Amino acid sequence: MRYVFGPVPSRRLGRSLGINNIPPKNCSYSCVYCQVGRTSNITLERRSFYPWKEIVEEVVNAVKTLGEEKIDYITFVPDGEPTLDAFLGKEIGEIKRRTNKPVAVLTNSSLLFEEEVRNDLFEADLVSVKVDAATEKVYRRINRPHSKLSLDRVLDGIREFSKSYKGGMITETMLVKDINDKEDEIKQISSFIAGLKTYKAYIAVPTRPPAEGFVRKAGEESVLRAYEMFSELMGREKVELLIGYEGADFSIIGNPVESLLSITSVHPMRIDYACELLQKVGLNPEKVLEGLVNEGKIAILEYGEHKFIIKKISYHY
Ligand code: SF4
Repeated sequence: MRYVFGPVPSRRLGRSLGINNIPPKNCSYSCVYCQVGRTSNITLERRSFYPWKEIVEEVVNAVKTLGEEKIDYITFVPDGEPTLDAFLGKEIGEIKRRTNKPVAVLTNSSLLFEEEVRNDLFEADLVSVKVDAATEKVYRRINRPHSKLSLDRVLDGIREFSKSYKGGMITETMLVKDINDKEDEIKQISSFIAGLKTYKAYIAVPTRPPAEGFVRKAGEESVLRAYEMFSELMGREKVELLIGYEGADFSIIGNPVESLLSITSVHPMRIDYACELLQKVGLNPEKVLEGLVNEGKIAILEYGEHKFIIKKISYHY
């Protein structure tokens, strides 16, 4: 397989069959946390990178071989920016015509100010847009964009897309310590996202080795603060954490402690609710929570008037 990989399990997309439609590494950004490394070709030029019909053929064959029931989403998630592919719209349209699977695109959103790019993405069933910054200075530090890009233009493009898009839109915000995790920045990011027609906002920390050695994951305090600030504007059900807990499965039955860990890796939980939950199944909440803190599995933090439990963020990549 040249262009297709997986399916890989994804919390956002279930079993996702990945498409790599951009060779490494062509991107409009060179994010400090990028897991593919620094961008060798920072570009805004849309063009053909591979024969688009070959990509479609390979996807259709992979779906046939694997069986449609094994795949939840077909996802454009390349080693670069997928919208740089001038044939993206054609590929999405053709894949949708020839399979019965929804198509998702994970984009850095930098080209959404172009009508042509928005039109291509209108074809997709789900689009994830990146919003890591709300001020130009932070934007330049974290995403290191092409010199012709400006944050205002990018945010306008996202707004414009959000107004007319009929599919499901989600956002992803990667929090990097001392770069974009300050209260002011988060406040502005959350109010921008709350103004979009998005059904879920994900708050992430880098979980794979980053392009730059100085990158550190935002700590639990910043992540909790971001979660609460987003939730105040959007409602808790619309905000989720992606902080690197692979086994997040809410349906763990019979093991309340694992279940608690799994929930708190996605939604920080008020400590009084957690105690209630543990008490209900006959456990001693103080003992269990103390044990989890000592084992380095959870952190207990205060935010506003309450104490919360959040899954401890591992500092190893
Ligand atoms: S936008 Fe994505 S591919 Fe491009 S540099 Fe950032 S993380 Fe890497």
